[in-house]
Amino acid sequence: MAKILCVLYDDPIDGYPHDYPRDTIPTISTYPGGQTAPTPSGIDFTPGQLLGSVSGELGLRKYLEGAGHTLVVTSDKDGPDSEFERELVDADVVISQPFWPAYLTAERIGMAPKLKLAVTAGIGSDHVDLEAAAAHGITVAEVTYSNSISVSEHVLMMILALVRNYIPSYGWVVRGGWNIADCAQRSYDLEGMAVGTVAAGRIGLAVLRRLKPFGVDLHYTDRHRLAADLESELGLTFHESTESMVPFCDVVTINAPLYPGTEGLFDDKLIGTMKRGAFLVNTARGKICNTDAVVRGLESGQLAGYAGDVWFPQPAPGDHPWRTMPHHGMTPHISGTSLSAQTRYAAGTREILECFFEGRPIRDEYLIVDGGHLAGTGAHSYSEGNTTAGSEEAARFNR
Ligand code: NDP
Repeated sequence: MAKILCVLYDDPIDGYPHDYPRDTIPTISTYPGGQTAPTPSGIDFTPGQLLGSVSGELGLRKYLEGAGHTLVVTSDKDGPDSEFERELVDADVVISQPFWPAYLTAERIGMAPKLKLAVTAGIGSDHVDLEAAAAHGITVAEVTYSNSISVSEHVLMMILALVRNYIPSYGWVVRGGWNIADCAQRSYDLEGMAVGTVAAGRIGLAVLRRLKPFGVDLHYTDRHRLAADLESELGLTFHESTESMVPFCDVVTINAPLYPGTEGLFDDKLIGTMKRGAFLVNTARGKICNTDAVVRGLESGQLAGYAGDVWFPQPAPGDHPWRTMPHHGMTPHISGTSLSAQTRYAAGTREILECFFEGRPIRDEYLIVDGGHLAGTGAHSYSEGNTTAGSEEAARFNR
């Protein structure tokens, strides 16, 4: 029987909810392109409930304990005295969410001789040292597509919030003001602007599709070019590289995975080639942008706004400069963990566990590392390497 160690974020400060604003959520059974939503043999939760926090347990306890396994759930994930490190030594499976990542560094993998499977309940497995996982024969899997549309909606929200100066304007209302000029002096229409995405994968393409009706000029760069009929349907301009695209854009949205080739991509040099007053939205991974370069870009006016929900490390320490930089629209890492998304990635996690325990193949589209190599989706979208350096800084966060 196996020990499953599951790291989830804390319950709400007022306690685990007893009721919710809505009674139902829409059922999504197929994603754009035809991939089916998760197909576990069953689920032990009500769709729309909070599953991603400690008491939600991703709805897994009944299933796992019913099969004789041990489930340990904790939010205490950082530092050598954490419950995560204590429990890791004899864990067979680790489950973690990118929003509150249990960083699986090479050192931690070295402490876990029994570890065979690391599941990302969500998308993006950069919190795992993929090279070390491959070397130790650990399978890494994530629930591909489970929250891609969720993130694309967040991107649209953030682009509009920045360009239209929504957040400061809301602030004036809350403070009892009616300061139209204060609000309007940084407020623009998106219409007619050039918007570019770094990557046109599941999220990037969904963003492009959603932007089309806004009457903007759409640009993209990706390692693989989209089909010509899709380019013409959406009116896309393709660029060979991020460097060649960004000088054309008023708004740039980042939708590429984090791996060594994208780490620190948006540095002073690249930001310096953007139009003065460009808006940058990053819901992919914090490390794709150089932290201080973003701050400098905002302070100098080279960037008119920056928004996103991804930071490094996570949770971001209280003194992280992105909390206090000007003209930002940051949220904690929430875009992919709406109650709607949780339903899908909890079901997908269960599907992956069922396959693993029953000796059935895990869907190729869920695989990142398998058999000692990048595999499935991982082989297509990632590259070998490790992006967990510096993750020990997450221990500085004070609850
Ligand atoms: P996909 O794998 O569908 O798409 C990623 C795309 O990025 C692929 O088309 C890939 O190209 C492309 N790509 C890789 N490297 C580069 C590069 N250097 N320049 C341009 N394009 C590149 O993933 P998703 O769209 O589902 O997710 C993307 C990322 O978003 C995830 O890896 C994750 O980090 C982040 N994410 C964030 C969430 C959140 O809650 N904020 C939730 C979900 C995901 P190709 O495959 O053609 O080689």
